[in-house]
Amino acid sequence: MLDLPLSDHNSVISEIVKLGSSDFVCDFQKIRRDVLNNKQGECPHCKHTKYVKFGFKSGSQRYKCKSCNRSFTEFTDTWIAGLHHKDKIDDYLELMVQEQSLDKIKVELAINKKTAFDWRHKILSSVSDSDNDDFTGICIILI
Ligand SMILES: [Zn+2]
Repeated sequence: MLDLPLSDHNSVISEIVKLGSSDFVCDFQKIRRDVLNNKQGECPHCKHTKYVKFGFKSGSQRYKCKSCNRSFTEFTDTWIAGLHHKDKIDDYLELMVQEQSLDKIKVELAINKKTAFDWRHKILSSVSDSDNDDFTGICIILI
């Protein structure tokens, strides 16, 4: 993982917020789904590139890998997978860009401090991990 100074992380995150995406998770899901539906993605479990659509599950498109037979969605293996309170991510990103403390974020969003801390970690590591050039938009940086 690259060890960027926090200011660099914040500039990447500000770019995302500046895009005016008021619904980050939804945009994220749309972009991911486009990539997967256009067969440009890969199985998050085994990296195989052949998979088929496999129904819907809680609003997410599911896919099934032809190699390992495991299923996945737009969120599998991304930092958003398994997050509770997905609806609060947009507000969280904004507060993060404003360099608000975890204590302040915790109160503003009514989440516990551990959640606030975990999200910060997930977001920062996904930004650091984005050192590849095959993404189609800045949102995908956070995959
Ligand atoms: Zn697979």
